[in-house]
Amino acid sequence: MLVVAAALGVAFSQTVLAAPAAALAGNPLATASSLPFHYPAFDKIKDEHFIPAFNEGMRIQLKEIDAIANSKAAPSFDNTIVAMEKSGALLTRVQTIFGNLQGANTNDKLDAIDSEMSPKLAAHADAIYLNAKLYARVKSLYDKRTALKLDAESEHLLERYHTDFVRAGANLSAADKEKLKAINGTIAKLQTTFTQNVLKETNASGLVVDTREELAGMSPAAIDAAAAAAKAKGMDGKFLVAVVNTSGQPPLAELTNRAVREKLMALSLARGSHGGEFDNREVVLKIAKARAEKATLLGYENFAAYSLEDQTAHDTASVNKLLSELAKPAVNNAKKEAADLQAVVDADKGGFKIGAADWAFYTDKVRAQRFAFDENQLKPYFELNNVLTNGVFYAANKLYGLSFKERKDLPVYNPDVRVFDVFDADGKQLAIFIADMYARSNKQGGAWMNEYISQSSLLGTHSVVANHLNIPKPPAGEPTLLTYDEVKTAFHEFGHALHGMFSNVKYPRFSGTSVPRDFVEYPSQVNEMWAVWPEVLANYAKHYKTGEPMPKELLDKVIASKKFNQGFLTTEYLSASLLDQRWHQLTPAQIPTDVLGFEAQSLKDMGVDFAPVPPRYRTTYFSHSFSGGYSAGYYAYLWSEKLDADTVEWFKENGGLQRKNGDWFRAKLLSRGGTDDAMNLFRNFRGRDPVIEPLLERRGLTGK
Ligand SMILES: [Zn+2]
Repeated sequence: MLVVAAALGVAFSQTVLAAPAAALAGNPLATASSLPFHYPAFDKIKDEHFIPAFNEGMRIQLKEIDAIANSKAAPSFDNTIVAMEKSGALLTRVQTIFGNLQGANTNDKLDAIDSEMSPKLAAHADAIYLNAKLYARVKSLYDKRTALKLDAESEHLLERYHTDFVRAGANLSAADKEKLKAINGTIAKLQTTFTQNVLKETNASGLVVDTREELAGMSPAAIDAAAAAAKAKGMDGKFLVAVVNTSGQPPLAELTNRAVREKLMALSLARGSHGGEFDNREVVLKIAKARAEKATLLGYENFAAYSLEDQTAHDTASVNKLLSELAKPAVNNAKKEAADLQAVVDADKGGFKIGAADWAFYTDKVRAQRFAFDENQLKPYFELNNVLTNGVFYAANKLYGLSFKERKDLPVYNPDVRVFDVFDADGKQLAIFIADMYARSNKQGGAWMNEYISQSSLLGTHSVVANHLNIPKPPAGEPTLLTYDEVKTAFHEFGHALHGMFSNVKYPRFSGTSVPRDFVEYPSQVNEMWAVWPEVLANYAKHYKTGEPMPKELLDKVIASKKFNQGFLTTEYLSASLLDQRWHQLTPAQIPTDVLGFEAQSLKDMGVDFAPVPPRYRTTYFSHSFSGGYSAGYYAYLWSEKLDADTVEWFKENGGLQRKNGDWFRAKLLSRGGTDDAMNLFRNFRGRDPVIEPLLERRGLTGK
């Protein structure tokens, strides 16, 4: 459910001014599309157009950057910062279209282009950020920023550019720049080793048993698959159960033999830390050390401080506060859940204490007792077109006055993709919305939003945004019926779309969803509330054959069942988030020598060392934390959810689904993109800092 950023790595965005180069004669990417809002000419763009456009795009932007850096004119906001904002039009266009198509509609050629271009694009970004002359101009402007008397958005942009350069190492001495490059190289190599070890260890860690009986509880098909997997590895006659890269393993919910469950759990938890060629303990220590050294070199206390400074949370103290506020209620709740499970064990005369290996098995038993219903009963009330037009669009109309008109004249990359003009309350066209809802084998998993064109008044552009889901396509002639989770996802992704479409900013650097990682999920999570808002629900949740409204007790059961097991889910997530922070809040001198000892002590210190609920990822297979993407950032999901839950309360307190509420949220937050500090935007909207109680309530963690 993430947002794919419009530009990859390079912050500078598009302009309509770039001249088409001779090298791109006949290439539709050479110039901005002449279709409405520069909607991409999908019918004309071919795979072979990308590489020449990438190369030309980088060449032109470097020329533009060199001209800015070497200008004889004294640096001004316009000839330096605004000029950078206008640079790279072609590169932005090709990166945006390429990245989006590779996610939504890829093939071997596009994948190969990606492998070829990624390192080149990274080097391109370095060539800009480590350009000393360019940085000197940025810094001279930054140093006298008050005297420049810029408007608020422009001043924030200047600060943002300065920050981007500094964070990339622009302020370092030449010698330290070389050191940083070397550390970056070391980190990149170690991260690759860590990632490969996790994958190889996962593949090597399957549970092997001698008899079919030991796998009792698993389906016959799954047991046959285990037999085939063992045979393929030269263990004819045995059974091999594969593992996935979380501490918990899906078969644990099914296996009736407790000793087998315990064996599976134990081998899962030991991955990467029991010796052998894929042991990650040394790698973890080296990564933690290299990241800490990088942070030190850049002037930060530790790597988490470096990483968080650029996030909504800002500093380690805020993240530590959120995580510790949740730790106690989460663990208390997990302990209550454990007592419920223990009661079932005792009733069965099990004669053992519930452990991590037993949790999923007994949770499924309790769940079946409490919530006797089949979720499939809901599906006839969730027909896709109804959900989209009478649910998602309806809520946007009631809240923001938006209206939608489907158009069939624009080209699409797949016949199932739908295109809508989006009109504002005053009748003016606001954006174009692309709905790509069905699963395909050439589409990445999950759901996401992306932008083909970002709004910017400097460039005169309006949003062209897309939502992508992975709903299985029914056979021809049959209706597309959604699960409750898919309905929520449709509302969620449209929340990202609104964030993009409502963008009302000058500079492309700040457009729409160009906000911190721990903030971007907030507006989309808020939009989920309308999926079950009574007035919205009544408008769309109708039986696809009879038109009858969905029975309320059915929906209530679904919603109630989602609160179940929250103590476990929150605790395992929280433990992993805490480990992620602990490892990245160390100075180089504090890096321990004993990975597992440090892990155990950290969990104990934070009060989350409850053995039946191990961290969702232990250190040695925690790819989010040690492979790159979410290092010191695994907390981000909960951080966004705290803002979300508090905002849902605000809507409820103020009368819910009403134009005045939608307009306020739009004016204060959704339209502002990254033009201000994200927490300022929240405070301007909410009138105060966020509070934790609504999140506790939602996750059933209030202790009531
Ligand atoms: Zn999302």
